[in-house]
Amino acid sequence: MTTPPILYTFRRCPYAIRARMALKHAGIEYEHREVVLRDRPPEMMAISPKGTVPVLQLPDGEVLEESMDIMLWCSPGEWLEGDWQELVEVNDGKFKDNLDRYKYPNRFDDVENPEAHRDEVLEILNRYEQRLGESRYFCGDELSLADVALAPFVRQFANTDRPWFDGQALPNVQHWLEGILASELFTGCMVKHEKWQSPTTPSETTTPTEPTTHAEPTEAPEMTKARQEMVDQQLIPRGISDPRVIHAMSTTPRHLFLTPEAWPVAYRDHPLAIESGQTISQPFIVAMMSELLAPLPVGARVLEIGTGCGYQTAVLVALGYEVHSIERIASLSQGAQQKLREIDSLPAELLVGDGMLGNPSGGPYSAIISTACARRVPPAWIDQVAEGGLIITPIKRLGGKQYLMRYTKRGRKLLKEDLGLVRFVPLLRGVDES
Ligand code: SAH
Repeated sequence: MTTPPILYTFRRCPYAIRARMALKHAGIEYEHREVVLRDRPPEMMAISPKGTVPVLQLPDGEVLEESMDIMLWCSPGEWLEGDWQELVEVNDGKFKDNLDRYKYPNRFDDVENPEAHRDEVLEILNRYEQRLGESRYFCGDELSLADVALAPFVRQFANTDRPWFDGQALPNVQHWLEGILASELFTGCMVKHEKWQSPTTPSETTTPTEPTTHAEPTEAPEMTKARQEMVDQQLIPRGISDPRVIHAMSTTPRHLFLTPEAWPVAYRDHPLAIESGQTISQPFIVAMMSELLAPLPVGARVLEIGTGCGYQTAVLVALGYEVHSIERIASLSQGAQQKLREIDSLPAELLVGDGMLGNPSGGPYSAIISTACARRVPPAWIDQVAEGGLIITPIKRLGGKQYLMRYTKRGRKLLKEDLGLVRFVPLLRGVDES
């Protein structure tokens, strides 16, 4: 048995993303070591003291420390046709320099006006626009190295101010980016991984190093601590035990779905009010509903009814499902989209619509999960769930009490499990465009 190469990587780093995409495209299996940039593992520092990701260690000991070296090592010949070299040079130079000054102006002494840097990038994008009018991808009608090398950076730029980016006259660039971001190649590379822990050295002994230019801003330590306490005190003692769910709940930043004033109470053991008279569910309920889906494999298609602020959606995305989520209040859906984009947890689809009708063009789903309470299971959900699939929803019975139910579809019949009393907002008809 041969040992696979080892990749030190960081999920959101655009250099690491391009390397992972190239490795995935080439079908190369590797050991994924997710690095936290504030606490880099000594194994990585020993082979690559500059401390940036990605780093690929080959089985023969050779170390590739640059994302382009990794791409070149694994790319097939047809990926290397065309003028990718010039494109990468501009991307990794002028594009990246201006992107950083636009996105993180406070990290630089020489930034007077971030928008001037945005406009420098726009000038490059205008050139891309022309090019992508001539062929579907940068070097012809097939995806190749240049596209994969550039897309993670264009994505980061686009996400810095999405409404602005969407408003630019860049239809070809926008279409190109959208296509890549929706591809299995990209989404398969963005699955969340737990921090890799060196088996030999406890993390306290690692040397902290200064963040590098591709470090992402990190959250306040008290939020990380509050989230861990939530998992340890509210979830595990009540029986949440699926490691995937525990990981998703430990890594999804619930506080970011609330206004900063609510952050001190974000991880408490109760639901909280959000805009439009709606609520963000109690952490335990989110974990429980997620665990009820746990028999499903990664990649299963899940339809969520009631996006709300998007917190449950983010947890479902972290679990690796292909998530489609519907919300009837347009403003809530937009807010959720913004948050989910910021934390890189956009689901496959966010829709504004009446979830009572499900998502007629999207089925069949492995599961439908509703965070709004119905009086009976809407027939559309039964139609749209696959044979053997699950419907998880609160149901209001006579007398007004709500029960969380899990149904399993067997033909036109639903096998029922009653999971106890809960409280959710009602499932309402129609759409609210406000
Ligand atoms: N999932 C959220 C909780 C949302 S509360 C969380 O993670 O905290 C339930 C949401 O369902 C509300 O935002 C409400 O507007 C929405 N809702 C109610 N009826 C709906 C319907 N018919 N279709 C879609 N969404 C609906």
